[in-house]
Amino acid sequence: MIEPLPSGSVVGILGGGQLGRMLAVAASRLGYRAHIFEPGAAPAADVAHAWTRAGYDDADALRTFAASCDVVTYEFENIPAASLDLLAGAAPFHPNRRALEVSQDRLTEKDFLAGLGLAVAPYAAIEGPGDLEAALAETGVPAILKTRRFGYDGKGQARVTAREEAEAALATLEGAPAIAEGFVTFSKEISVIAARGLDGSVAAYDPGENVHVDGILSTTTVPAAIPAALRTDAVLLASRILTALDYVGVMGVELFVTRTGLVVNEIAPRVHNSGHWTQAGCAVDQFEQHVRAITGWPLGDGTRHADVVMENLIGADVARAPALAAERGVQVHLYGKAETRPGRKMGHVNRVTGPAR
Ligand code: ATP
Ligand code: MG
Repeated sequence: MIEPLPSGSVVGILGGGQLGRMLAVAASRLGYRAHIFEPGAAPAADVAHAWTRAGYDDADALRTFAASCDVVTYEFENIPAASLDLLAGAAPFHPNRRALEVSQDRLTEKDFLAGLGLAVAPYAAIEGPGDLEAALAETGVPAILKTRRFGYDGKGQARVTAREEAEAALATLEGAPAIAEGFVTFSKEISVIAARGLDGSVAAYDPGENVHVDGILSTTTVPAAIPAALRTDAVLLASRILTALDYVGVMGVELFVTRTGLVVNEIAPRVHNSGHWTQAGCAVDQFEQHVRAITGWPLGDGTRHADVVMENLIGADVARAPALAAERGVQVHLYGKAETRPGRKMGHVNRVTGPAR
């Protein structure tokens, strides 16, 4: 039995957005203090014990931050390698560096997943226009060109529906190293949120069904309307990924449901927007689960006790929050962001639609 970190220990979180905010709240419920590292605006800092407001290139700030923490984690995956070097050794760091590096780069990520024998979209690397011909021969058309790094909410992507559009599509990525992915014909998108503890135990939540609007997650519904066998496949596949990475913490695994089975779209080495439903559907939600995993607690009970629809409040949607709050079974989460902008995630609601089916 591993001893959990004692009360009052400091959980360092790289990144200060809404995921960091909900992690900080979960950490405080377990008796910990959260220390946020974030150069920009930090909704997470409002609910944290400390905030280091500095850039990822500020070596002194990173070292002082790490020295103040008993464990360090992160809420976004684009942490530069040089910053990881500076953090190394100061405090335990979870999920580990390999998990971060694998998921930071779509090419590395695809190679890793394919190497595990998991189905992924056909893909090929593109360094420049000269690679397009061969890449599209590999993936077929239609295809999606994606920057290898820094993509989120569908940003850094361009669709190619006909060969002659390819050069123009690639130009929109402004010379960033990219990959081409064959377009996967899917009936649904689902995701699995899974966790692995310091002792190597693995737990997974029921898969949720995701609907995107304009490239941004709009709703997650549990249970996903898929056959039981696919639910099992999804959970087993997630567990293989975590174990292969010697992972500690919560991970989001995005999947396409196709005629031939599950195809892995991407993995996120952190708590995930499509796991917010767990706040209303499980005794232990994904945020507490992550904090438990990295601080040495036993993983919590993630059995789903309710059917839930999570809806993101994006941009002006946030004005609907008071009306939604008046509805039966609705839980409102707002992120405390000062400015409402189109496409910006301002909050979400979890609507309990009934007891677990
Ligand atoms: P997010 O931040 O929402 O996870 P992202 O920017 O990381 O998004 P992806 O998850 O790679 O990008 O793609 C966004 C969406 O585009 C997917 O959820 C899916 O709907 C669609 N998509 C991506 N790749 C493919 C593909 N190869 N075939 C079909 N659809 C795809
Ligand atoms: Mg995605």
